[in-house]
Amino acid sequence: MAILEVRKFPDPILRQRAVKVTRFDAKLAKLAADMVETMEAERGVGLAASQVGVLQRLCVVKPEDWEEPLVLVNPEIIRREGQREVEEGCLSLPGYRGMVNRSVRIRVRYQDLAGKQLRLKADCVLAQAIEHETDHLNGILYIDHLVAHDQFFRIHVTEEGDVEYIPTGEPDAAELENAARRMNHAPPVPQFDPTSGRPVSPRNEDATAAD
Ligand code: ZN
Repeated sequence: MAILEVRKFPDPILRQRAVKVTRFDAKLAKLAADMVETMEAERGVGLAASQVGVLQRLCVVKPEDWEEPLVLVNPEIIRREGQREVEEGCLSLPGYRGMVNRSVRIRVRYQDLAGKQLRLKADCVLAQAIEHETDHLNGILYIDHLVAHDQFFRIHVTEEGDVEYIPTGEPDAAELENAARRMNHAPPVPQFDPTSGRPVSPRNEDATAAD
């Protein structure tokens, strides 16, 4: 297995639509395994093939409390229910987080690495991750559906390990590019409340209260 390079915004490949996977071969399995290794090394909850420069409809997700990653080939969200406001980050936009609207529950149709058709119902972090990754496969980034332009923050980890949220206003390509260069570590993995599925983020509550 190998750790792959994660493409960073504004790499144009992140804006392209990936094509349907039609060959379920050893090459696909190898790509999925490398993507899992890359996601784990970067401490991400999910990774889409587009993010490693491969425009194929394949993504991997692994919520923090899961033992095994889930590989989704040709994922298609066939039902969305409810709406909730959640905090989100992306390995292709290191050093930033934003508030977006996501579904409460989804139903997804996908194939496994052998090409077998499967269906899955998901909620909480899993639903959020699958929506985020299928967006990637369509060239969509979470910054495209921030709940508001000012709900986008640069994160700064202090020497004490505290995470600070610095309001940035509207995402700006040049700023993001500079930040990607500055950052030499992945953004902190968000903590989620197990009952509500909402991110646990005291710093962010502070930021909201100050608005
Ligand atoms: Zn992402």
